[in-house]
Amino acid sequence: MENIYDVVIIGAGPAGLSAGLYSARGKMSTLILEKSKTGGQIATTEEVANYPGSIEHASGPSLVARMVDQCKEFGATIEKDTIKEVKLDEKIKVLVGEKNTYKARSVIVAPGASPRLLDVPGEKEMTGKGVSYCATCDADFFTDFEVFVIGGGDSAVEEAIFLTRFARKVTIVHRRDELKAAKSIQEKAFKNSKIDFMWNTTIQEIKGEGLVEGVVFKNLQTGETQEYMANEEDGTFGIFVFVGYIPQTQIFKGILDMDEAGYFITDDNMKTNIPGVFAAGDCRVKSLRQVVTAVSDGAIASVQAEKYIENNFHE
Ligand code: NAP
Repeated sequence: MENIYDVVIIGAGPAGLSAGLYSARGKMSTLILEKSKTGGQIATTEEVANYPGSIEHASGPSLVARMVDQCKEFGATIEKDTIKEVKLDEKIKVLVGEKNTYKARSVIVAPGASPRLLDVPGEKEMTGKGVSYCATCDADFFTDFEVFVIGGGDSAVEEAIFLTRFARKVTIVHRRDELKAAKSIQEKAFKNSKIDFMWNTTIQEIKGEGLVEGVVFKNLQTGETQEYMANEEDGTFGIFVFVGYIPQTQIFKGILDMDEAGYFITDDNMKTNIPGVFAAGDCRVKSLRQVVTAVSDGAIASVQAEKYIENNFHE
């Protein structure tokens, strides 16, 4: 017999895993699809200190591992596949992946967001060769080297603090003259003697052959450019980019309502413009993108999916 899931969840970050937990626990047949690693952005976060109850400052990967175990314990299936196309207008929704096609009575879309690039010459070529978007993954390569962290938000400043455990010097390069990060995070950075700041500055070009060897900075107030080269002994340095995120909503363009930046527009019950389709987590228009709000979205979406199925599929 054809397998039609009660709920298919796209994305196994905190929102998707929370939706999966609630759906499986609610005895709905639940499939969670993830195109890469489970956990989304927290999978690459060193410390999750602001998730209630996480007093031992759990690392992102350990929190994710527990969420995954909990989902599976209640019967959710997690599979790796990349959804390429969706057909959501019929009563039974169809999701076409690279590996399989999936059918569902309801769909919870929780694809999260991925790092925004600087979009400057040399960035793509040097990614993985000195340019990184994940301190947890790559900090170790820069033990006793210099690193630059680009951005002024929570991610940039938190990751800069983390990088001081490895690098001998960390310079935060920000395009404004003040940080955007929460005051408590800023205070820690200002107190850290290994952290320097370059204000009103952006990167214009990244240079190197094999590894990053130089970078061209531009002062936005004076318009002056300045080339910085790795010292001879080091031969290289790190550039960690944390300039925000882009919602992974492209395949839903023209199907689900979204704002100009590509974030899904939902109501308070995570309902999209299509009945039976819900959105949860960082992909959604919202005022706070955190693990705690993502898991909340997931739970609400799941309960609403259950109600939708009850009203539309049961006599
Ligand atoms: P964000 O808050 O959007 O900050 C992005 C930073 O990058 C801003 O300072 C921005 O400058 C700068 N920027 C953007 N485009 C740039 C470009 N092309 N060149 C140079 N700089 C650029 O992003 P985020 O720090 O990744 O945080 C994302 C969300 O996750 C936020 O809601 C944040 O609160 C949350 N978060 C929370 C925590 C925590 O609570 N512990 C940790 C990490 C993330 P402007 O200031 O000029 O806009």
